[in-house]
Amino acid sequence: SDSKDTIFKVVLLGCPGVGKTALTVRFLTKRFIGEYCPTLESIYKYRTNFDDDEVKMEILDTAGQMEEGWKDGYALWGDCFVFVYSITDKDSFDEIINIKRQVENVRHSTAISGILVGNKSDLLHDRQVPVNHGMELADEIGCKFYEVSAADWTQVSVISDMFQDLFRECRRAKNAR
Ligand code: GDP
Repeated sequence: SDSKDTIFKVVLLGCPGVGKTALTVRFLTKRFIGEYCPTLESIYKYRTNFDDDEVKMEILDTAGQMEEGWKDGYALWGDCFVFVYSITDKDSFDEIINIKRQVENVRHSTAISGILVGNKSDLLHDRQVPVNHGMELADEIGCKFYEVSAADWTQVSVISDMFQDLFRECRRAKNAR
């Protein structure tokens, strides 16, 4: 298939407050979030160049407590997934395995293109999830792992690389289909 004509649909999933909006906004605008509505759910449309291809992306920043029906809708809509937890919130980490499983169930497939992201790495003094636990979980769920801080402006390029990696992985999976 020709990736030039393809829209890559990215869905950010994770517990409320882990930084899904902050990561999306950082990636798209290179800025940290200012005023915004944390319960608003948004689809961001984005056009960029990756690997000499023009790429159209749609990024769905899920928000609030996900209701059952909507969750299924997100899982079906997306081509690839950003599973986000906060390194300062052990519960948000423990929830990732359930979220991943729900996506698999809805799609009737374990072949999910995704990355695992431990956000808020600037809050080292509040860390509840060691780096190696993140790495182990990533291995377990078959995703690449990143620990990042959406709040740290020096990480703009790391966050951008992260989305590029996801795009590449997603394109590989699409072309293999
Ligand atoms: P969402 O509910 O997952 O979309 O989370 P938000 O993006 O709304 O972020 C929740 C809160 O965490 C907000 O107060 C953000 O400013 C804050 N936040 C997000 N990312 C980071 C980060 O990397 N470091 C720090 N210190 N705070 C962050």
